[in-house]
Amino acid sequence: MNARIAIVEDEPDIRRILADFLTKNGCTVSEAADGLAASKLLAEEQFDLILMDLMLPNISGERLIAELRTHSDTPVIVISARSMLETRLEVLRLGADDYILKPFDLNEVLVRMEVVLRRTGAAELPDTLTVGGLTVYPAENRACFGDKPLSLTAKEFRLLLLFAEHPQKVYSKANLYESVWNEEYCYEDNTVSVHVSNLRSKLKKASGQDLIETVWGIGYRMKGEQ
Ligand code: CA
Repeated sequence: MNARIAIVEDEPDIRRILADFLTKNGCTVSEAADGLAASKLLAEEQFDLILMDLMLPNISGERLIAELRTHSDTPVIVISARSMLETRLEVLRLGADDYILKPFDLNEVLVRMEVVLRRTGAAELPDTLTVGGLTVYPAENRACFGDKPLSLTAKEFRLLLLFAEHPQKVYSKANLYESVWNEEYCYEDNTVSVHVSNLRSKLKKASGQDLIETVWGIGYRMKGEQ
């Protein structure tokens, strides 16, 4: 991912882990270790995305986001302890675009960042994604297996796009729901399972294979290599 990222986080270990990981993944990273440094950094430099802790010395993350929103639409992902933040609604009310709870999984951070960057138009998808015999054309909202076109609903297509972007990655139902429906996943219902199951049978019909597999107790993943 080629993006300029600001990491606002006062815990040195977490900051370093995020910075190393994002640099390794092609990002240009700037860091701020407290609220004052963050305020200065965000006023002086432009970023594609900001990862923002809430509990910070000097100026809180909430205030930094409010300050930022007076002059900038730069997407913000809040990274916070569960006790600080209960719902997606609170995060959106703060003016942030998404949130990740600590402790976090680094790959999850990357996926969330990609989703937010795409939604805000800062990240472009490639023209085509291929996994095994499957080809997905993100801009055209279509996909085919070999030369057989797949007839997918809008939700099925967005699910397929996520799976195809990161084959082998296991997505939980909550992940899928929050990324595709863009709403908080608050209780176990059948929505995700039904859409995944429909997508799965369409893929199976076209390919003769089960391209999406259930990982019991966790979620789903796409089989195959990019
Ligand atoms: Ca903190």
